[in-house]
Amino acid sequence: MIDSHTYPEDSYLLGSLNNIIVGPEHPPLMRLSKVFDFIRLEDDRLHIGAATPGGKIVSFCKRHDIAHFEFMAHLPGTLGGMLQMNAGLKSYETFDYLLDIRTKDAVIEKADVDYGYRRTDIDEVVFEASFRVEQGFASSKIEMFKQMRSNQPRDPSAGSCFKNPPGDYAGRLIEAVGLKGHRIGDMEFSDIHSNFLINLGMGSFDDAMAIIKLAEERVFDLMGISLEREIIILDRRYLP
Ligand SMILES: Cc1cc2nc3c(=O)[nH]c(=O)nc-3n(C[C@H](O)[C@H](O)[C@H](O)COP(=O)(O)OP(=O)(O)OC[C@H]3O[C@@H](n4cnc5c(N)ncnc54)[C@H](O)[C@@H]3O)c2cc1C
Repeated sequence: MIDSHTYPEDSYLLGSLNNIIVGPEHPPLMRLSKVFDFIRLEDDRLHIGAATPGGKIVSFCKRHDIAHFEFMAHLPGTLGGMLQMNAGLKSYETFDYLLDIRTKDAVIEKADVDYGYRRTDIDEVVFEASFRVEQGFASSKIEMFKQMRSNQPRDPSAGSCFKNPPGDYAGRLIEAVGLKGHRIGDMEFSDIHSNFLINLGMGSFDDAMAIIKLAEERVFDLMGISLEREIIILDRRYLP
């Protein structure tokens, strides 16, 4: 648990593990402590600790009538994980109103981070970030975002398994190669949304890897498209 600005460099940082599958051969792991779970409103800036859950951010914004964080309402994760992945829903992304991030050694301006669809080049521990504040929390957007999620299964998953390739949908491709509802052990590409790899109870790491590789191979062989994983596989045998 990290509760100051020093940490072991060889350990892998977890947020709240909503986008990660951990294998038996994982590296040493670490997490931010509650010290980094905070929100402060100062002038026209929102300072948020990286261990703060998205739901808490939305509640704060609702109380203070702050706009643009509504999309985090049902997005599972902490701010640190959302920043690292530039998590979002459709065109709404964590980086939209970001000003800067604070790491061990520096405050890094948004303009100095390379980011895009579900990716950034952040490769160190983020302790906090600050965001531009605009007034106007929109409760109606919460309902809209809930509707957008209505096609997601409720079974345990790590969110979308693959990134959408340009101009296409990973879920469509998985379905097109006959893997919608396909199951290996207790891991299944959901028949509600094919890009959600769900655990039906006793799914193992090996089951998950087998079905992920099957989808990658089949989509490449039949459609000529290389699927890029959105979920992170945390096991020495699979780390890049
Ligand atoms: C049901 C479900 C639905 C989902 N829907 C969406 C969706 O609509 N859109 C979307 O974008 N994602 C979605 N996800 C994925 C997930 O919610 C996001 O990726 C979220 O950002 C993960 O946050 P986390 O705290 O759990 O991070 P983790 O999964 O624990 O970590 C993710 C990455 O962030 C890094 N990280 C964590 N904290 C820090 C930090 N402080 N500093 C630097 N790096 C850090 C980790 O090292 C790791 O590389 C969904 C997941 C689930 C389970």
